[in-house]
Amino acid sequence: MTETGEEFKAPQTAGSPETTLTMPLFPPSGGQALLSRTQTSEGALDQTRWSKEYPSCGGRRQSPIDLQRRNVQYNPSLKALKLTGYKSQGGQFPMTNNGHTVQISLPPTMRMTAADGTEYIAKQMHFHWGGESSEISGSEHTIDGIRYVAEVHIVHYNSKYKSYDIAQSAPDGLAVLAALIKVEDYGENTYYGTFISQLNNIRYPGQSTVLSDLDIRDMLPENVHHYYSYKGSLTTPPCTENVYWFVLASPIMFSRAQGWKLENSILDHQNKTLHNIYRMTQPLNNRVVETNFMNLPNERAPLLPQPYMYLSKLVNLLTRSPLPPTKAPF
Ligand SMILES: [Zn+2]
Repeated sequence: MTETGEEFKAPQTAGSPETTLTMPLFPPSGGQALLSRTQTSEGALDQTRWSKEYPSCGGRRQSPIDLQRRNVQYNPSLKALKLTGYKSQGGQFPMTNNGHTVQISLPPTMRMTAADGTEYIAKQMHFHWGGESSEISGSEHTIDGIRYVAEVHIVHYNSKYKSYDIAQSAPDGLAVLAALIKVEDYGENTYYGTFISQLNNIRYPGQSTVLSDLDIRDMLPENVHHYYSYKGSLTTPPCTENVYWFVLASPIMFSRAQGWKLENSILDHQNKTLHNIYRMTQPLNNRVVETNFMNLPNERAPLLPQPYMYLSKLVNLLTRSPLPPTKAPF
């Protein structure tokens, strides 16, 4: 394993798939590496082959997905996420080039409470980007088909489990807070200054550095209230379908230079610049993406507040109306 010096890491055995969300797995048998390169034919083949070794990768609730604004379900009862311990509290944050991405270990004091009241404990954050050739974007989720420059994932596990290792195979084990990164020419995001400048110090796989006094809240968009939410999976093998996804509606802004540095600072195990580390979008199948914000001007009919839903169901029962329960009985 390449995560050296991870202060907040729970003890685990070597070869554990702990980092599977971030990194394609290299089977311990020495089998073929599963790279997530997507632009080359070789890479595309690699992704389609995942399900041969990891059947979940061919499942029906995979991530990432295209977030189609005309097809999301607005749910006004979906509360804002409660983020605790995200503000700067001192402490040391190990940051590692693990050969697949840049990963920052997070302290268990960082927590996220979802709208349903479930509390999740932060484990690590990492990035996905493109850059295979100039101006190739590399977010995993797309919005109305648009791929953003990059994407950050803050990985959490359900606090009802004793450790990440146990939670990672539980059906309700994980939650990821995701934010898309957008580039604006000269608008340097100073909250990412230290992170970006430290990339040079972890150029080679296995190299680590330590960030002091990181403020993760500042590294997120100003608006963390509005999000897309759906049930999906890890985006790398074993593609376990146990991830509750929260994709923030507002992007993080980088300058062009910051985007370039993220894409071009890190080398992989073959000493090649790490590019295009994202998975292609997966079929939505019968899933519904919920949002807690209105999409103008094409928003769909909102879910009715609970009393109206019951009333609506009652009316449907009494009148044997074919109206679906979530629509107003008029
Ligand atoms: Zn990820």
